[in-house]
Amino acid sequence: MAVGIDIPENGWYVLANTRVPVSLAPALAGGEEADGLVASDIAVADGRITGIAVRGRRPAPPRAIDLGGRIVLPAFVDCHTHLDKGHIWPRKPNPDGSFMGALDAAGADRVARWSAEDVARRMDFALRSAYAHGTKAMRTHLDSIPPQEDISWPVFTEMRARWKGRIELQAACLFGIEQARDEAWFQKLVKKVAAAGGVLGAVTYMVPDLDELLDRIFRAAIEHGLDLDFHADETDDVAAVSLRKIAEAALWNSFEGRILVGHCCSLARQPDAEVLSTLDKAARAGLSVVSLPMCNLYLQDRRRDRTTPRWRGVTLLHEMAARGIAVCVASDNTRDPFYAYGDLDMLEVYRMATRILHFDHPVADWPKTVAATPADVMRLDGTGTIAAGGPADLVLFRGRSWTELLSRPESDRIVIRDGRAIDRTLPDYSELDDLMV
Ligand SMILES: [Zn+2]
Repeated sequence: MAVGIDIPENGWYVLANTRVPVSLAPALAGGEEADGLVASDIAVADGRITGIAVRGRRPAPPRAIDLGGRIVLPAFVDCHTHLDKGHIWPRKPNPDGSFMGALDAAGADRVARWSAEDVARRMDFALRSAYAHGTKAMRTHLDSIPPQEDISWPVFTEMRARWKGRIELQAACLFGIEQARDEAWFQKLVKKVAAAGGVLGAVTYMVPDLDELLDRIFRAAIEHGLDLDFHADETDDVAAVSLRKIAEAALWNSFEGRILVGHCCSLARQPDAEVLSTLDKAARAGLSVVSLPMCNLYLQDRRRDRTTPRWRGVTLLHEMAARGIAVCVASDNTRDPFYAYGDLDMLEVYRMATRILHFDHPVADWPKTVAATPADVMRLDGTGTIAAGGPADLVLFRGRSWTELLSRPESDRIVIRDGRAIDRTLPDYSELDDLMV
């Protein structure tokens, strides 16, 4: 048995002597030991959490399962992925690891190979991996460049229904913003996204008519009651300021929905005064930001002359968090031309984020970036926290401190969903071999 602990099949038990980050279990406030962890007991009955308390404040029943101080987290929320691109690497690698190499390779593969069956099989493979690692909600972007939107959106709605109760799946459309110049096509896409209960998304580029195109997108979102999700400034070009443009568009359109902005890499290259004024606007506009540390590290500052990269590629999450901007980290691409690696394991994302973005000393509220905050951005009530009355969707680890948790892959973690330990067998890569020839 993984981690040497048996979770009772009947779904009634007490997990005693666990450690839980207070940022993900507000009821534990005041009980913090080192680095925001609280020694606690969690009672589970019939698939739900019936109580969580600081250890010692309430008597634990004699047959409680003693976890010996091991860390327990809520099931993860991954708010930025590309399930439609995932796992095409064996048949379409990135020739040089560059951003343009990724764009060209993924585009060519989409045109040549993305039938409904191809997309569905790779998507299902990816969802099984994420589920096994402990994720319970995800948002994927879907390339929606004609004619792919007519293929991928029906696959998504079917997959969302098939995975209901295991992974809460959301989708946002993805296209270069200049495509929205074609008003007739754009309005048709908006209707398709709205009909599927999706999120309106686009990749912003510094095109001359960016303001007008953003206005068109914001007006459509207001008209159809859609949330927004942008890819912005995934470049080292200091002239890329679409994060600021999105904030301005949100303010002058008085947009009231949720806006998630991904990447914002160029912000880390811009002069301080410019950065601060952009962040003030982003905070005022109520933007949320998701950083994709693994993809940024892979694609940004990759040099044509094969010299060594000199910056990390990630955006300014500390400065954002200090201004009250909601910040998340997420997987982004997995085994495709944008990122040759990855398996939708949010513990890996958090571990890498800790190292790349310094989510430590102190750990503070950073654990929220993979659970509570993306759940809020995705409007998922009762997800991403451990609270009485909520579902018993938990991940039990071997590590008892952050240094233990983040030093090993924790491949033998226990994932509990609705109170019961799930089968964590990962799909075998060979399943997809016939799609890769
Ligand atoms: Zn992305």
